[in-house]
Amino acid sequence: MKSSSSDLGPQYLPYGRQVIDEDDIAAVVAVLRSPWLTTGPTVDEFESSLAQFCGTTYAVAVSSGTAALHATMASLGIGPGDEVIVPAMTFVATANCAVFQGARPIFADVQADTLLVDPQEVEQKVTACTKAVIAVDYAGQPCDYDRLQQICVLHGMSLVADACHAIGGSYKGRAVGSLARISTFSFHPVKNMTTGEGGAVTTNDQELAARLRRFRSHGVTMDFRERLKGGTWYYEMVELGWNYRLTDVQCALGLSQLRKLPGWIERRNVIAELYSAAIKAARLDADVRPLGRACYEHRHGWHLYVVRVPPHRRAAIFTAMRKDGIGVNVHYLPVHLHPFYRQRFGTGPGLCPVAEAAYAELLSLPMFPTMTENDIARVVESLRAALGATDRA
Ligand SMILES: *Cc1c(COP(=O)(O)O)cnc(C)c1O
Repeated sequence: MKSSSSDLGPQYLPYGRQVIDEDDIAAVVAVLRSPWLTTGPTVDEFESSLAQFCGTTYAVAVSSGTAALHATMASLGIGPGDEVIVPAMTFVATANCAVFQGARPIFADVQADTLLVDPQEVEQKVTACTKAVIAVDYAGQPCDYDRLQQICVLHGMSLVADACHAIGGSYKGRAVGSLARISTFSFHPVKNMTTGEGGAVTTNDQELAARLRRFRSHGVTMDFRERLKGGTWYYEMVELGWNYRLTDVQCALGLSQLRKLPGWIERRNVIAELYSAAIKAARLDADVRPLGRACYEHRHGWHLYVVRVPPHRRAAIFTAMRKDGIGVNVHYLPVHLHPFYRQRFGTGPGLCPVAEAAYAELLSLPMFPTMTENDIARVVESLRAALGATDRA
C-alpha cells in the first residue's frame, strides 16, 4: 500500500498539501455519474460560486493557472512589440505568459521586507510599449493594489493580479480576485484549494470575460452545449484559441473545496502565528526572520510560510531539514536568472538586486491547513538543530 502522506514516508511534512474529504469525493463521483463530464452545468456552477466568492461579475474556469495567465494576456490583446512588467520574485509562469504572446516581460524588483513588487520600480520600468503590469501576491500577501492601480491609470496600462497564492485573502476589505482589472488563480494541489490541475480568471469586464471564454475553447464562437441548446451545428473560429477547458469533474471538486476555503485560510493564519511565536520562543529570531507584513489593512492568504536565514547557511539548513523529513523548499529563483530568460532576453544578475539578495536567504517551511501544533514544533525544532549544527561547522 502507498504511504498516506507521500512516497517519502508517513512522517514527511511537505511544504504544501491538499485537503480532500469525503464530501469532495462524493461531489466528484456524482459528476462522473452525470451526462456531462466537460462543458456542462457544473462548470457554470463553479464559475458563479467563484465569482460570488471574489465579488466579481465573471469567473472563467480554465485548465491551469498558466492557462489563466495566457488567456489573460490574449484577452488584453498583448502581442509582439508589447512590454509587460512582472516582479522578479515569482513563479516562471507569471513572465512566460507574456512570452507566449510574443511580448517582452520587463522585470521589476521587489520590496526588501515583503518581497511584493515595488510600485516605484514599476513606475521606473514603464515605457511607451508597456501594456500591462502583473502584480503577484507573493506567499499570499496582497500587493498594494490602490498604488498599482494609480500607476496603471496614469500610463494607460492594464493591472493584472497573479493571485495564484492569495485566494481567500483580502485588501482593504475587498476580496482577492476583485482587486485588479483581471485576476488569475491556480488550483494545483499545493495551492490554497485544488481541482487537481486547474485555474480561473475573474473580472468585472464583460468583453474580457467573453474573450477569455473564446480563447479557452479554440477561439470558437459557441461551445458544444450552447449549440445543442440553440439546435444548431454551426460555429465559427474567429481567432486562434486553445483547449484550456476545466472539466465538470474538476469543477465539482472546486465547488466542494471553495466551501471549505474560508476555514482553511483561517487555519493558515493561525499556523503562521504559531510559527512566528515558536521561532521567538526558541530564540531563533536573530537568524530566522519571517517576511514583513504590509502596513495597509489586508488578510493574508498564507499560501507559503517563508523565512529568511543567513545566506551562507541556507544550503546546509535545507539539507539538514530535508534529512529530518521536513519538506522545506525555496520560492523562487528570480525569473530573470533562469537560463531561458538570460539567453532570450539578455537578463542576468544585477537587474533586480533586492530579489537576488533575498533569494539566497529564502526558505519555505511546511504550510497546509491540516498541520498540527506538533508538526509546527517538529519543524521549528529541526530548524533550531540545523542552525546549531551550521553554527558549529
Ligand atoms: C502556481 C502558480 C502559477 C501557475 O499555476 P499552474 O496551475 O501550476 O499552471 C502561476 N503563478 C504563480 C505565482 C503560481 O504560484
